[in-house]
Amino acid sequence: MLQIYNTLSRQKEYFRPLHEGHVGMYVCGPTVYGDAHLGHARPAITFDLLYRYLMHLGYKVRYVRNITDVGHLEHDADEGEDKIAKKARLEQLEPMEVVQYFTNRYHRDMELLNVLPPSIEPHASGHIIEQIAFVQKIMDKGYAYVSNGSVYMDVEKYAKDYPYGKLSGRNLEDIVTETRELDGQQEKKHSFDFALWKKAAPEHIMHWPSPWSEGFPGWHMECSAMGTKYLGEEFDIHGGGMDLMFPHHEAEIAQSCAALGHDSVRYWMHNNMITIAGKKMGKSYNNFITLEQFFAGKHELLEQPFSPMTIRFFILQAHYRSTVDFSNDALVAAEKGLGRLTEAYQRLMKIKASASSSVEIGNLRERCQEAMDDDLNSPIVISHLFDSARAINTVFDGKGTISETDLEELRAVWKTYAMDILGLQLDGAQDAGAGMEAYKGAVDLLLNMRLEAKRNKDWGTSDKIRNALTELGFTIKDTKDGFEWSL
Ligand code: ZN
Repeated sequence: MLQIYNTLSRQKEYFRPLHEGHVGMYVCGPTVYGDAHLGHARPAITFDLLYRYLMHLGYKVRYVRNITDVGHLEHDADEGEDKIAKKARLEQLEPMEVVQYFTNRYHRDMELLNVLPPSIEPHASGHIIEQIAFVQKIMDKGYAYVSNGSVYMDVEKYAKDYPYGKLSGRNLEDIVTETRELDGQQEKKHSFDFALWKKAAPEHIMHWPSPWSEGFPGWHMECSAMGTKYLGEEFDIHGGGMDLMFPHHEAEIAQSCAALGHDSVRYWMHNNMITIAGKKMGKSYNNFITLEQFFAGKHELLEQPFSPMTIRFFILQAHYRSTVDFSNDALVAAEKGLGRLTEAYQRLMKIKASASSSVEIGNLRERCQEAMDDDLNSPIVISHLFDSARAINTVFDGKGTISETDLEELRAVWKTYAMDILGLQLDGAQDAGAGMEAYKGAVDLLLNMRLEAKRNKDWGTSDKIRNALTELGFTIKDTKDGFEWSL
């Protein structure tokens, strides 16, 4: 039975959904004002693994992953301007043009990483009415106040009735010392109060009417409003990166409790972070590598391109709650590991059954399931697959035999665990693009050899190449500079 680590209780718990056979799951998605980087790949892949495993277990999953397109004010924002609005202003674009551009690119990256699309992908900008209604509920319950057209959560009042900080294990004193000077400080009763609604400055281009001011929702409001809209006032799983635990998820809990009188989320799950050579990723460290840069190998920290599957495998090789330190060498090792797994899978598809098995396939299926049930222990699943790769190679090398039943079972387990659950495309689908390039190169090579043979008046070789290619369906045309071909 599946056990997952609940950040709230700080322990592994048996997963019992609210409604039998159904799972409601919400994951904080990307803010679309820039290209996705390695830090985006980890939560996407972690919760893709969970989504795939829940479906494998037979649950009907409603997976909601939002698009943050009302640029949040962030701690490090220098002028406090909405980042999407800023980009739009600088590039003279409609804000929604910026949003669409980066959303499309995010989708492309996710598809390459074989991350399944969520069931619902709501945009914050499309749910302003729901967010205003949510703020109003908190106002009605007396846990928020209006100041100069903005609405703030009255954290001190809230903390008297509910445990504020329970997710991240902070208390109000910790939070006071941690909270840095932020925009709007003079309007707030306390530094730890957070905005539910912000009045827009005149130069702010993304704003909406509300009962309090022409403005925009606060940083944390969209997930509370959209989570409950699509999954109900109480739902099963809320996921995201550990960096979102405070203040984002803590604020979400406060908003839900204040508005609804109870928590919305039963299991909070957080993936750990990726560091680069031991350092946090960040623009100031110049170690912010976008996924596109990984795929193209274009960044000073990279010595070569890495395929999306290598990135996926690299992330799955670590348990989602451990930190992962990225380096070029670590990715090279992941590439090799994935190569060995791919080779084993392809051999598994080729080997023939014998009357009996001399190799031990063990209870591979049970062991893989046990690992997944243990809080999604993907590295252990991978190590079990490597164990069975040894048996596959033994049979492939003719040093062992496998029975029909064992072979079928082995193929089924690899398909289920490696391909469907881990989402590793070991069948070469991922290589189609690279394969196409290699194929074109090979045809060019043959035709260049034919050209050389013709120059040497070696008509036999020249005709042989031409006829063989024609037979395979190629059309070859000799031109002044050499040749043209098509299939
Ligand atoms: Zn969120």
